[in-house]
Amino acid sequence: MPHVMNTYGRLPVALSHGRGCRVWDTNGREYLDGLGGIAVNTLGHAHPKLVPALQDQIARLIHTSNYYQVPLQEQLAAKLVELSGMTNVFFCNSGLEANEAAIKIARKFGHDKGIEMPEIVVYDKAFHGRSIATLSATGNPKVQAGFGPLVPGFVRIPLNDVAALEEVAKSRPNVVAVFLETIQGEGGVNPARAEYLREVRRVCDERGWLLMIDEVQCGIGRTGKWFAHQWAGIVPDVMPLAKGLGSGVPIGAVVAGPKAANVLQPGNHGTTFGGNPLAMRAGVETLRIMEEDKLLDNAAKVGAALKAGLEREFDGLSGVVEIRGQGLMLGIELDRPCGALLGQALEAGLLMSVTADKVIRIVPPLILSEAEAAEIVTKLAPLVKAFLAAPSP
Ligand SMILES: *Cc1c(COP(=O)(O)O)cnc(C)c1O
Repeated sequence: MPHVMNTYGRLPVALSHGRGCRVWDTNGREYLDGLGGIAVNTLGHAHPKLVPALQDQIARLIHTSNYYQVPLQEQLAAKLVELSGMTNVFFCNSGLEANEAAIKIARKFGHDKGIEMPEIVVYDKAFHGRSIATLSATGNPKVQAGFGPLVPGFVRIPLNDVAALEEVAKSRPNVVAVFLETIQGEGGVNPARAEYLREVRRVCDERGWLLMIDEVQCGIGRTGKWFAHQWAGIVPDVMPLAKGLGSGVPIGAVVAGPKAANVLQPGNHGTTFGGNPLAMRAGVETLRIMEEDKLLDNAAKVGAALKAGLEREFDGLSGVVEIRGQGLMLGIELDRPCGALLGQALEAGLLMSVTADKVIRIVPPLILSEAEAAEIVTKLAPLVKAFLAAPSP
């Protein structure tokens, strides 16, 4: 009898260990990891530089609480400030917690300006997490169903539609912030266009709004820059991070620029586990190893090769709507629900995901080699072709 609550549709396999971009199940079968624990395992599995660092940290200190100074927090914060061009960081444990803190910052930012019922602009198909507030910001009726009443204070608009944003600016005097992912992940790998991001930055500056960019999935080098919005040449005021930052050790962070960095004062917000020495060490070492091993360049180069390989196989194929994304965050949209491909890929020795029903998503470790990228294409192409050729059930 199962004792774990039945909250996931799990595949019938248990993974026992991994190395690089390979993992093995408890029966000894090998898989190529095109999922990276959902954009989490930046350095793959059992990375030879990360493992001894984490072993060293576990033997020293795992957790102390935020009653005391945690020098590793300062070290990781300084690095994130350097990489982002922003000013201060709050540490927590997950993506939703980082987004929850961002929402609290936006609301208090509004209250500090005398706006008692502040509103935040959010987007269709957005995903920001599954707490009640972040679920309310999420733009997916399916994950919201059954959990009402949702939290008020969000105004929803379509992505990449400047006119819709201008309309909100004209008609909603209580707006204090715009909150979006640079590339929507769970929503189906939908990029915000660079020109759109620059327009959002302009409107936020004109109106005195905070620009809050959720880089939980697309950040930490995945697109070939540290943060995906950097391709548009903008800097946000608030940037939640999580997934890839700890290479698998749970961690979340909110990076803030000058407009937002001092909104939260002692007593306003906190977390027991957030910023503990183990998670901080994982973050520090992940960023250090990424620089040392030039993983941003690798993500850009191998991602481009992977995209080209997928385009070679799928372009013009009836049933393939679009291949999109950047670096090692790629989506292949089909014209029909394709969740069945998950099990078939597993059978073929490939870990990957399907999101938004119809989008095959590939978010592998950033250490992926070109040979491994080619292998993803070789494993995936025949499955997708057979799936599209089969009569729909
Ligand atoms: C995964 C994700 C979250 C939620 O992160 P959790 O760690 O699962 O709470 C939030 N925002 C984005 C963009 C994500 O991809």
